[in-house]
Amino acid sequence: MRIAIASGKGGAGKTTLAAALHRVWPRPHAVADMDVEAPNLHLFLHPIVERRAEVSLTVPKAVREACTACGRCRQICRYGAIALFGKKIALFPDMCHGCGGCFTVCPENALEEGKRLLGTLELGRLPDGTPYFSGTTRIGEVMTPPVLRSLLAELDAGTAGLDLLLDSPPGVSCPAVTVARRVDAMLLVVDPTPFGLADFRIAWKAFSSLGLPLACVINRAGMPGNEGGDEAVQVFCQEHGLPIAGIIPFSREAACRTARGVPLADVSPEMRERFDQIAGSILRLFEGARHE
Ligand code: SF4
Ligand code: SF4
Repeated sequence: MRIAIASGKGGAGKTTLAAALHRVWPRPHAVADMDVEAPNLHLFLHPIVERRAEVSLTVPKAVREACTACGRCRQICRYGAIALFGKKIALFPDMCHGCGGCFTVCPENALEEGKRLLGTLELGRLPDGTPYFSGTTRIGEVMTPPVLRSLLAELDAGTAGLDLLLDSPPGVSCPAVTVARRVDAMLLVVDPTPFGLADFRIAWKAFSSLGLPLACVINRAGMPGNEGGDEAVQVFCQEHGLPIAGIIPFSREAACRTARGVPLADVSPEMRERFDQIAGSILRLFEGARHE
């Protein structure tokens, strides 16, 4: 079973939940940090990297002596990655989407294949032997989905027979949807503040349209100064038939320990028991869910 741990916004607690669930998950599984724009699950789980792989995009490079400045490549490029200044062609590889159109229309073979590095995958194991997958988009790079697709291909090839716990990208934009389309079920982590609830509503709306089994986990419940926040989330869940797989109570002491890299399930026997219950609840809710 593949479970995406997602949220409507950054900082809701998905990485905290992913790390804690790994510590208590009762079945063989792999863990993946799919938040390739800002991966941080490694801070809790300390993977041993065994292999690195680059993800790149094929972009055009000009063969200047062959170019007649006919302008066909500029006309076909929808992304403004090619310009002509008088008789000189200018290429902007950072704007290229790799569609290949310019190669097809060039009558002079004046474009050759170059590479733009999009990101790097890191593959290995956790200290307890659990397979671990992660990726990092190059700083300044905007094309995150190809990095995610390469990471998903590694998961397809290397996790047969295992459950998968995926720390998803936050929000509901392309990276989050790229992951959501490839999982069996989705767990939404909610920060029960007014701001968190607003983003949770958006996330529910976006992901419920995919037809996946969904459940939520309320994080930092009972936070001082947030009276009524937990109840507002519970009312929303009730009104929309969204099961609550677990509630993580706010604890300043636990927050201090997790800030030092301790998975939340390890901060106390009470927390361990709570996450044991949450894992059991998730398995019951999502049992039988399979990606089509
Ligand atoms: S490959 Fe496509 S997006 Fe890239 S420069 Fe050529 S036409 Fe433009
Ligand atoms: S299509 Fe080929 S020949 Fe024409 S401007 Fe582009 S690179 Fe030059």
